[in-house]
Order: sequence, then structure tokens, then C-alpha cells
Amino acid sequence: MSDTYLNLVNSGFTKKVAKQLGLPQPAPLRRYEPGQPLLQGAVLVLGRGSESDALAGFLSADWDLDVHRHATPGTRYSAVVLALTELTHPDQLSEPVLAVGSVLKSLPKGARVVTVSRAPRADDAPAVAAARQGVDGLLRSLAKELRGGSTGNGLVLAADVPVTAPSVVGALRFFLSTKSAFVDGQLLAIDSAAGSLPSDWEKPLAGRVAVVTGAARGIGASIADTLARDGATVVAVDVPAAGEQLVTVANRVRGTALQLDVTADDAGARILEHALQRHGRLDIVVHNAGITRDKLLANMTPDKWDSVLAVNIASQLRINEALLTSGDFTDAPRIVSLASTSGIAGNRGQTNYAASKGGVIGMVRATAPLLEAFGGTANAVAPGFIETEMTARIPAVTRQVARRLNSLQQGGQPVDVAETVAFLASPAAGGVVGRVLRVCGQNMVGQ
Ligand code: NAD
Repeated sequence: MSDTYLNLVNSGFTKKVAKQLGLPQPAPLRRYEPGQPLLQGAVLVLGRGSESDALAGFLSADWDLDVHRHATPGTRYSAVVLALTELTHPDQLSEPVLAVGSVLKSLPKGARVVTVSRAPRADDAPAVAAARQGVDGLLRSLAKELRGGSTGNGLVLAADVPVTAPSVVGALRFFLSTKSAFVDGQLLAIDSAAGSLPSDWEKPLAGRVAVVTGAARGIGASIADTLARDGATVVAVDVPAAGEQLVTVANRVRGTALQLDVTADDAGARILEHALQRHGRLDIVVHNAGITRDKLLANMTPDKWDSVLAVNIASQLRINEALLTSGDFTDAPRIVSLASTSGIAGNRGQTNYAASKGGVIGMVRATAPLLEAFGGTANAVAPGFIETEMTARIPAVTRQVARRLNSLQQGGQPVDVAETVAFLASPAAGGVVGRVLRVCGQNMVGQ
């Protein structure tokens, strides 16, 4: 699905006209390709204290990045990391934040700004709480000011999580990389120091077996491609009616296809049986299969309500229960579910869909603790507007408007969701527990 407007405002004469008229000028986003370096230039690490020094030391020693500790206006930093974990008063924000401001105008296209801070706690002194919560507002506003496809995101660490824990640097790497091209304005909680860094960053899922539902097309097909690229063996699941496309995807990723309606009572058992028989194990389940049956509630019919709830949430609950009670899903397992910004902000005509997607967010929060004993996690990804067959059905004018309603002024691509799923499925995300990460370009709706 292509965005003609984005192409027009980035080429020749129409680019000039759009500029003169003050029209939105979305920048083409740079996506990840294997072998791509993490950053294309220096990284500026700002912030005072031993934790800030430790993080800067890690980036320089372990990842061989060109780390600068003081802002030199005019230098084209490819990324800025604001290490703010030791803040005790909002007064301490001004020095590092104004230093970021001094380099913003010279950031190259597709630059990254990432804050690293601590989560406010109920027993914080008021000044500490104010400083910590202040980072939230600062980051969300800064992300809205960035241009040229640059993004701003934050990591919010629980009290006892060291800044160089695998879960922290793993998430930082995701935010710094082009894998997070359409993730913008988000604050991701790092709940624990759990998880591990891969020996090979090109194959973080090596040796893992992953099931992806709804894999015949759209976002699901892209998730299958991305998990396979990262080294996983993929079982692609979709309804029998999509059998031909499903086999194409399964063959492309050198995985196997399982024709299955996820709403079947025995779906969990069949998934497990297939994975164990064909591949010997099951480590990752991506609940991606989803449908929309939009109607205003006043016109909603039982079949439209029930089918959406059945596919989008009830099936996931049933499959998870089968896996959790099987005794065969216990080696640092990962569940990643597709939610939606509609489930957070609500959307007219989508009470059924939003109930199901809000349900996904509640489900992962309550499921994560059940997996913790096995070193496992459950998390959700909430896409905003993504260019797929699902959104191609939206009326043309509504679709054009929907694309522009985020800080990056464009729709995301299926691969943007897939990269985020792959990150949450990876060992490095072991400290992200029961959370929802939006892939929406900082959509204006919702929190
Ligand atoms: P899509 O309609 O293009 O693909 C969905 C796939 O799920 C299809 O292959 C379909 O056959 C399969 N499927 C449907 N019901 C099934 C069932 N009962 N059993 C097995 N497979 C089934 O959708 P998409 O745009 O790729 O969306 C994928 C997921 O992302 C969905 O959960 C959707 O709600 C979510 N999402 C999409 C967007 C977006 O902008 N496209 C935004 C937010 C969330």
C-alpha cells in the first residue's frame, strides 16, 4: 500500500509547492537492513552522575560507538541519549535538556533522542517525583518537535534496575536503531534486569521456535519474515481459506504452515502439537490474527460483536491457557499480542474492536506474572495507522487524514510493527513485563 502524498512532497516541483503552501512534509523513514551499523555518526550522552558515566562507558566499550559527553553545537550527532536516572529535583533538568536543545537544529535526518530515567514511586519525595514525572512530559513534547523522520523515545527504569542491565541496553539499542523507525514519543517501562544480550545481534532469535497467527498476509506475514531473519524457525498459522498465501509465506521463511482457525476450541493444543512434532519446541507465540467488523454501537449486531471478540481476544486467552498448562512452554517463553491504538484511545464505530484490543492489553498485564517463573514475558504491541489491506478499506479522505495525525505525518509499514514484535520476543526484552508498546509515529490520539 503506497502513500502517494508522501512520494509527491519528497520529489521535485511538488516538494517545493508543498513547502510554499506549508503542507505537512513527512520524511521517508530509513528502515533496518541486515549489516547496517547501529548508528551512522557520533552519539551524545548527556547527564551527570555515575549511572550516566556507566552508560556512556558501555556504549563506547561494548558497542564501539563514538561517544561524546558534551554538546558541541554544529556537530551532527546521529543520536542523543539523556541519562536522567539520578535526578532528585526538576532544577537538574535544565542543564542536560538545554544542551539537547543546542544540537537539535543540526541533527541529521532520522536521528534518535532517547531519555533514560526512573519510574516515579509512591514513596518518592515530592521533588524526586516531580523530576521523574517531568521527563515524561519533556520527552513527549520533544518528540513532537523533531523533524526529518527523527524520533524521541524514553526508557523508564524500575528502582533496582541498573542502567547497563541487558534489558536496558537491549531496549536502548532498539530505540537507537532504524528498527524503531515508526516508534515515536513512547516511554517504555523496564521492570527488571532480566534478559540477556545475544552473542550475534543479527540473529537474536537463533534456536527459537515461533508461532505467528494471521501470517498469510499484512502485518502477520511481515512478522514471520522478520522473526525468520532474526534466526527463529517460524510456524505460520492462518485460516484454511488463506491456505495458498500461507504456504507462500511459510516457504519464503523456510518454516512450516498450519491451517487453523484460532477460534477453534483445540487451537492451543494443535499449535503446540505442530510445533513440537515438526520443530521440537515452542518458545514464542505472536497473537496477530485479527478482524474488524465496524459499526456504530446503535447499529451493532450480535454476529459483528461476537466474531470480533472471538478472534481478537477470546482465542488468545484460550490458546495461552493451553500453552501455560502444557508444561512445554517453559524456556524463557515469549507471548507478544497485537493490540491497537483504538483499544487505548477508542475509535468511533469500533466498540467491538476496541473492547477486544483493550482486552489484549489487560490480558498481557495479567499473563506476564504467570510466565515470570520460567523467565518468560507477555507484552502487547499497539499499532496506529499501518499501511495494510485492513486500512486500505478505509474511505480515501479519512485514510489521508488518518495518515497525517501523528508526529511523523505518515502511516507505518507492516515491518515497523514486525520489528517491535521481534524486539519484544528477543532475549534482550526480558525485563519488559506485561507492557504495551505503541507503533504509531506518536499518534495524537490516546495517552
Ligand atoms: P489483515 O486483515 O491484513 O490480516 C489479518 C490476518 O489474520 C489475515 O491473514 C486473516 O486471514 C487472519 N485471520 C483472521 N481471522 C483468523 C482466524 N480466526 N484464525 C486464523 N487467522 C485469522 O490485518 P493486518 O492489518 O495485517 O492486522 C494484523 C493485526 O494487527 C490485527 O490483529 C489487527 O487488529 C492489528 N492492527 C492493525 C492495524 C493496521 O493499521 N493495519 C492497526 C492496529 C492493529
